[in-house]
Amino acid sequence: VASACRAGTDFPLQNLPHGVFSTGGAARGGVAIGDEILDLQALLELNLVPRSLGELVGVAARSSLNHLAALGNDAAAELRAGFVDMLATDGALRGDVERHAGLVLVPQRLATMHLPLCIGSFTDFMTSVYHVTAARRSRPARPLNDNFLHLPVAYNSRATSITQDGVPFPRPWGQRREADGSVVFAPTAMLDFELEFGAIIGRGNALGSRISLDDAGHHIFGYVLVNDWSARDIQQWESRLGPFLGKSFRTTISPWIVTATALAPFHVAPKPRSSEQPQPLSYLDSPAHRRDGALSVSFEVHLQTARMRATGIAPARIVTTELAYCAWSFPQMVTHHTSNGCNLEPGDLLSCGTISGPADESAACLFERTAGTLPLDLPNGEQRCWLEDGDEITLIGRARREGYVDIGFGRCGARILPAH
Ligand code: MN
Repeated sequence: VASACRAGTDFPLQNLPHGVFSTGGAARGGVAIGDEILDLQALLELNLVPRSLGELVGVAARSSLNHLAALGNDAAAELRAGFVDMLATDGALRGDVERHAGLVLVPQRLATMHLPLCIGSFTDFMTSVYHVTAARRSRPARPLNDNFLHLPVAYNSRATSITQDGVPFPRPWGQRREADGSVVFAPTAMLDFELEFGAIIGRGNALGSRISLDDAGHHIFGYVLVNDWSARDIQQWESRLGPFLGKSFRTTISPWIVTATALAPFHVAPKPRSSEQPQPLSYLDSPAHRRDGALSVSFEVHLQTARMRATGIAPARIVTTELAYCAWSFPQMVTHHTSNGCNLEPGDLLSCGTISGPADESAACLFERTAGTLPLDLPNGEQRCWLEDGDEITLIGRARREGYVDIGFGRCGARILPAH
């Protein structure tokens, strides 16, 4: 697949993420390779799958990947080795697959992507100290809560309103308090995005049991980009018990699940804490985790307004940031989540929270960047404090490490429609 060898592709042979797609007919499982999708249903129908892999490919070909996630990462790695055999230049299974390339490879531009699995629970963490303190030119830093460096703070968010890349949604209505003190019910006037990154749980844990830090990585099936859309006016007025309607109207994720196996080369040491900062308690710390518990991934947010689109102006990059700004890793989130015996299930989504860094360009939501008063300048002269109808926000991400081929996460975009 020539497009898989092109520099800058999100989906080289080293990635092979799982997704669910359709081309007019039933939704089915596929694996992204370059600009194409390896159609797993077609592989099975054409008898191109060796018997030893038949059952696994059958599970990965379903219209929902919860069962694949539940099989655990050894199964995912075995499957991945099979796909490499089918697609690599020197792959043992390449010849048969190549002869049927026109039947087993579907151009991504002709496919509709679906939610890759049923997400039963969505937990949203808050792990960037820069997001919490929001120290910007616009205002002084908020104080860091005294628990922030002791535990990864989170709330139970809404799973039913998660949709995949490309699904537009209307500006939500909600209650807010106006500057004059009156309380109104109206379309939000402070619509925002939040650039986040999420882990999809693979094998779960039994209710009442815990997942240890060194085992936590084995319970993560893969990762997706997450846009935790937020209505700041609704959120500010309602929040006494954590976020609710200001967040639950919509969350957008990227449709391809990049497996934990594909990300194995991108593990790095978490940033060490300073000697004045509290060290993690022992259940959130281990030598192995200190060695390579974090991931090296960078992200961008792009904004294209309706007017930019109409006049052929490309989306403007408005955020560049990296996962290293998060003070807690995904294994630490998994371990903390289950530390009271709470059970995680295959397909659950754990998101790391807004990935803001110290610079203005790394403020990963408008609330931090503009505070509603210092507008962002766009290339065509337009300005934004908050998102307007017709605006389209797209997140992208890449795992990078010296000596390895970069892999990407595909697109995570959606357009704002006028309120109903
Ligand atoms: Mn969030």
